[in-house]
Amino acid sequence: MVQKNAEYRRLVVDRQRRLSETLGVSGYEDKVRDLIIAEIEPIVEKYWVDAMGNLIAIMGEPGKSPILLDAHLDEIGLMITHVTDQGFAYFTPIGGWDERLFLGQTVVAEPQSTRIHGVIGALPPHITRAEDRKKSMDVESLFIDFGFLTKDEADAAGVKVGSVCTLDSGFQELPGGRLKGKAFDDRTGCNILVQTACNLAKKELPHQVCFVWAVQEEVGTRGARTAAYALDEQYHITMAVACENTTAGDVPGVPPQRCPSRMGKGPAITLVDANTVVSKMVSDLLITTAEENKIPYQIKTPASGGTDAGAIHLTRAGIPSGVVSVPGRYIHSPATIIDIKDVLGAIDLVTAFTLMP
Ligand SMILES: [Zn+2]
Repeated sequence: MVQKNAEYRRLVVDRQRRLSETLGVSGYEDKVRDLIIAEIEPIVEKYWVDAMGNLIAIMGEPGKSPILLDAHLDEIGLMITHVTDQGFAYFTPIGGWDERLFLGQTVVAEPQSTRIHGVIGALPPHITRAEDRKKSMDVESLFIDFGFLTKDEADAAGVKVGSVCTLDSGFQELPGGRLKGKAFDDRTGCNILVQTACNLAKKELPHQVCFVWAVQEEVGTRGARTAAYALDEQYHITMAVACENTTAGDVPGVPPQRCPSRMGKGPAITLVDANTVVSKMVSDLLITTAEENKIPYQIKTPASGGTDAGAIHLTRAGIPSGVVSVPGRYIHSPATIIDIKDVLGAIDLVTAFTLMP
């Protein structure tokens, strides 16, 4: 098993911070991809970026029952649709947001080389009417305030129609080994794959391993679809595992039967979700691997939501696919909380799975 010490844990936490802090809204994942390329370049046999923008890397001997490991690069975000004469920016959501979250949030954008921040303007009670504050919110009426006074100032900062941004709350290490930040869905999976590649380096591999860091999962598992097609055509993939950040429901107000997973209880193994009934062969193998290696795990209980496995398992003649997830409280928000133990457990599980003959 992988050597685990404070240095290894620090490496994983620091990578989680860098991945989380990087901006990579669906379709605009290049900075996240570059960060991962810098880490894997010295250890993989080869890698390339395909036409969609997916990062694909190969380790191990060609033809040795190839397996595919997937995580998605993108995060949900916002795209600016209109800038007013005073420099206020209207926007449209990209990916699945709960729009009630928007009001008053901090926004991060990188319209040019430097990072800028703004807020989604929320009028204070002093200038709103009590009856208006009870009305439901209309996302089309919301705007981002980058602090500009004029459209010229917005232009000069590079804020224009088509600029992408997202909500941010900052990355923090919480007490007890928990982490808080944006885009843990699915930079956590990206981290799991990078660390797995590091753990496999210089080892005799029983499988050829095809890594996919996929684009555009949040808008319909689009990157994984083309990457899996190309890899299956070239390498004949025998099975696949998508690594994700899934919903933890262990918070007040969620009855046990609606709780998909619990933070701190180990990586969650999916049996069924909205777009796949997981291959029993793959889920059994994942469970056996966890048990043989004494890795605490949990079964994700059926709930909505899907992953890249939904696209991968329907590739060409079909690829048996499974999902391993790190539970996250408040996913699809600017402040998700995860437990580093679950991340380390997921890395152990995926590494051990990949090393199983
Ligand atoms: Zn995801």
